[in-house]
Amino acid sequence: MNRVVDYKNKLLIIISSPSGTGKTSICKKIINYDKTIKLSVSHTTRDPRDNEINGVDYFFISSDEFNRKIIDKSFIEYANVFGNYYGTSRENVKKILSGDFDVLFDIDWQGAAQILESNIAKIVTIFLVPPSKEVVFERLEKRSKETGDGPADIKRRMLEYENEMIHANEYDYIILNEDIEECTAKVINIIEKERKAFN
Ligand code: 5GP
Repeated sequence: MNRVVDYKNKLLIIISSPSGTGKTSICKKIINYDKTIKLSVSHTTRDPRDNEINGVDYFFISSDEFNRKIIDKSFIEYANVFGNYYGTSRENVKKILSGDFDVLFDIDWQGAAQILESNIAKIVTIFLVPPSKEVVFERLEKRSKETGDGPADIKRRMLEYENEMIHANEYDYIILNEDIEECTAKVINIIEKERKAFN
């Protein structure tokens, strides 16, 4: 049975993966390709990386501000990931949907589970898996040269690898990211297929 949702014919696309799988790059490719989708920019208490811009990659806020937003019920979902808080603003999501766009979420499995409890719009969940744990380690090491992430950041993410992978089965689709272009094309196909189900 179809659920009654606030925004009919709109799609919430949730993409999760272990850190270092290439999810953020794929999300950027998707919104470049399909101008009817907008990325949900999350709030976080994490420090900005060298190459990140406030308001574009994240809204970087203090723990106090984050706590106030929790109390105000400003977040549709929030979670502690790798020791920092991340959350999705309800107002931002509604603004995107009201502008007649679908919403793409680059969030973890804890956030995905919370959004699945909401009745905002139709939801599709996609989990990206890397070819191996070794590839993830190489990607995190390579990325650290651009971002300023230290060995402790990489270690923390590697320690969570298995814990994140076990949630893959909770998603509608699981896609291997061996080749970024191929993986992006598969995600776009899924989105187009899910949209056809509206008609
Ligand atoms: P990073 O620090 O590498 O940008 O993100 C770390 C993890 O937090 C990634 O798995 C990312 O998908 C997740 N994340 C980013 N924003 C949010 C959010 O708003 N909510 C949740 N639950 N996870 C998020």
